[in-house]
Parts: sequence; C-alpha cells; structure tokens
Amino acid sequence: MIELRHIHKSFSGKKVLNNVSINIAKGEVVVIIGPSGSGKSTLLRCLNLLEVPDSGEIMIGGVSLNTASYTQKEVFNLRAQTGMVFQNYNLFKNKTALENITEGLIVVKKMSKSAANEVGKTLLAKVGMLEQASQYPITLSGGQQQRVAIARALAINPKAILFDEPTSALDPEKVYEVLHVIKELAKLKTTMVIVTHEMEFAKEVADRVIFMADGQVVEEGLPEHVICHSDNPITRKFLRQLT
Ligand code: ADP
Ligand code: MG
Repeated sequence: MIELRHIHKSFSGKKVLNNVSINIAKGEVVVIIGPSGSGKSTLLRCLNLLEVPDSGEIMIGGVSLNTASYTQKEVFNLRAQTGMVFQNYNLFKNKTALENITEGLIVVKKMSKSAANEVGKTLLAKVGMLEQASQYPITLSGGQQQRVAIARALAINPKAILFDEPTSALDPEKVYEVLHVIKELAKLKTTMVIVTHEMEFAKEVADRVIFMADGQVVEEGLPEHVICHSDNPITRKFLRQLT
C-alpha cells in the first residue's frame, strides 16, 4: 500500500531524514515513536507530499513519485492518496464543522453541494460530531475540533490517514475521545500511520511500532517487543525518559 525507499531530506544542509525505507500494508496500523527532532513529522509530511524528499522513492496505492524527476500534478495526485491530521487540528476557522469537511469534496472532488453535505454528515456522525455540524471551530473544544479534523481527513476517501501527535495539544480529559475515534477506525481496518507519545495507546492500536532517532529507523516490530522488551539501548533510553 505504502512504500518509502531510501528517503533523504535535509533542511539548510542539516540531514533530517537519512535513508528511511518503510513498507506499510493495506489495513495496517503503524505507530511511529521517537525523540523530539528525530524527523517523525518530516517523515509524515513527505508521505503527504507537503515536503518532497531530496531523494528516494514514494509509492502509495499504486501511485508513485520519483523524487529525481516529477511534475506538480504528480505531487497533487500522490498527496490526494493520504489524509493528514495535525497536532493543532488546522481547521478552517471561518467555516463550520460541516463546511470544513465538504470544502474538499466540492472543490477537489467536484461534488455537488447536496451530495457533499450528505457525505459530510455521515462522517460527522461517525466521529460523534453530527450535533455540532453548524458550529464554528472556535466554539468547539480541542477534542471536538480534532474529531472534525479526522472526519475531514476521511472525506476524500484516502488510502491511508496520517496522524501527527493527534492528542498532544489536548487537555488530558479530551485525549480519550480522540483516541477512541482512532481505535474505531483501526477496527474498520483503516490504514493509518500515527506519530504519538501515548505508549499505552500505541500498544493497544498498533500492528507495528517504528522507533526513529536522528532521522533513521532504529528498530521496528510488534508493539510489545519495541515498547516493552527492546534490547536496543537507544530505544530503552527514550522509553525511560517518557516515564
Ligand atoms: P519530530 O517530529 O520528530 O520532532 P521534525 O521532523 O519536526 O521532528 O524535525 C526534525 C528536524 O528537522 C528538527 O531539527 C527540525 O528543526 C528540522 N526541521 C523540520 N522542518 C523544518 C523546516 N521546514 N525547515 C528547517 N528545519 C526543519
Ligand atoms: Mg513532530
């Protein structure tokens, strides 16, 4: 479903991703953990083509990009293969919850307004936000905004959803409702890549955990193995510092 091969990315001469190769199967839930600054967000941004890697190959759902030679159209095509959920929700502030979802359907998918509204309402119901359909983001809690953001990411029917620390901006009592929505998506076999510091959640939801440090994949494996029984000293040091 998703394949990254030998991805390199630098910012102003500083190597942020150093030869990262990752495969993700259809229906798989992959959790990425690692210290701040290790390149996790950059990796997700490369997957979503918000950044184009300096070199390497990206393939998502049969669509590929050769980073040595590509067109802007190819970048847009590949970006449409994944939906992204950000730490700070990034909703359109001047649009209602429903309009946040229908915007992409009307503009990108050329859907009629009424058809887009139907899809939007179904998705809001899925994340438990139908009652707030006509509310603006500022009137919603962080947890509610994030659930709208998840519905929006689902709207374009992407091959995979990418989550960048979806709960780290939330008040502790709002974390559960967002994790609950993600767990429900996992039950439905939604392909997901999730960057998080919530280790209990990772153990519960992940099929596989990838530990990154200094722009590289240090190790990957079953959540139990990486989070509870790793014998890698870098992984162990990171996990110790979390508790
Ligand atoms: P993480 O998400 O693991 O905390 P990031 O991918 O955000 O790590 O960042 C990795 C490194 O790349 C950091 O040192 C960060 O400062 C740098 N970086 C990320 N994005 C940019 C950018 N657009 N311009 C310059 N440096 C960046
Ligand atoms: Mg980050």
